[in-house]
Amino acid sequence: MSYKPANKIQDLQYFGEFGGVNPSISDSSTYTFLSAKTMFDTFEGDADGCYLYSRHSTPSNLYLGEALAAMEDTETANVAASGMGAITPVLLQLCEAGDHIVSSRTIYGGTYAFLKNFTPRLGISTSFVDITNLEKVAAAITPKTKVLYCESVSNPLLEIADLEALSALSRKHNLKLVVDNTFSPLSITPVKHGADIVIHSLTKFINGSSDTVGGVVCGSQEFIDQLRNVNDGASMLLGSTMDSLRASSVLKNLRTLHIRMKQHSHNALYLATQFQADGLRTVYPGLISHPSHEVFKRMMNEEYGFGGMLTIDVGSLDKANALMELMQERNLGYLAVSLGFYKTLFSAPGTSTSSEIPEEEQVEMGLTDGLIRFSVGLDNDIERTYQEMKKCMYEVGVFETAAVI
Ligand SMILES: *Cc1c(COP(=O)(O)O)cnc(C)c1O
Repeated sequence: MSYKPANKIQDLQYFGEFGGVNPSISDSSTYTFLSAKTMFDTFEGDADGCYLYSRHSTPSNLYLGEALAAMEDTETANVAASGMGAITPVLLQLCEAGDHIVSSRTIYGGTYAFLKNFTPRLGISTSFVDITNLEKVAAAITPKTKVLYCESVSNPLLEIADLEALSALSRKHNLKLVVDNTFSPLSITPVKHGADIVIHSLTKFINGSSDTVGGVVCGSQEFIDQLRNVNDGASMLLGSTMDSLRASSVLKNLRTLHIRMKQHSHNALYLATQFQADGLRTVYPGLISHPSHEVFKRMMNEEYGFGGMLTIDVGSLDKANALMELMQERNLGYLAVSLGFYKTLFSAPGTSTSSEIPEEEQVEMGLTDGLIRFSVGLDNDIERTYQEMKKCMYEVGVFETAAVI
């Protein structure tokens, strides 16, 4: 795979109003028109390049969108105030009452809750399937199905979606393949493997400093125009707009994403390899033991690695909690949800980010009590971090009860 998304970001060139090296921030919520006719045309969607009102678009948001579209190799993109603020309008734009969605069952807890508890109120139903089992995915498709929804690397179980196979299926049934690529920016370029629409929570790796929420939808000009349509566009009408100041700060962070991803991936592969050698049940797409290691390898833009997320199973929730508290006390990372920070973040997904998923379903999908999800940080000396983590594991008795391979 020769696609180099970081090159595409680097090649963009913007200047500020006074020749500044960063684009000027558009500090306005509304825009003047030189003629009344242009205002009318803009509302009708006929005046390209005119700004109307900042819920629709702003120069700062368009710069960020353009950079993210370059990264994901789509025609264009629309940024949003959060990842959920990107996901929910996409699904509501594509589906109406009576329609059906086939979704991976291991997805972000908020997306799961939206599909399970909220969209049924609007007459939209969802079947949740094991996305790695193509027969089950195919069997769930009905004449009412409009969308096939998955995460390229799933939260929190790190299952890998075989996007080529899923896109063949979605083309056959005339569905839209919508992929949340939050866990694998740069590493995987979903449209290269047939995705129609790619979504990110910018809150995570892309912004990378855990100081804001944000989201983006990358897709065709036609679809993004639909989302932004003043009369019936879900992004425009639901109103989860990113602020211009924030768009400009996310754009600045995006420029270092490739360096950060390489370090996240390097550190995560190191820890995963060591944890597995210690006999802990470790899930990381870069390990040959991962059931979809080959699928990831086939899709990946190699230089960015297998990403910064890994899980281990320490046998019980009590051990998981004790370990996380001790690791935090020793300053090896923070007991916090979210991901993509310079510090390692760890949490027990069954009782936090995936607590929306009922317990029986958690068991069925392999989301065990002792599971700890790590977003591995940018540590300069990961060997030292590993040695310190191992000491913590001995102290809380992980090796006595851990699910060993
Ligand atoms: C965090 C996350 C979201 C939601 O994003 P917010 O910015 O918190 O709204 C969606 N999908 C995935 C995979 C996530 O990790």
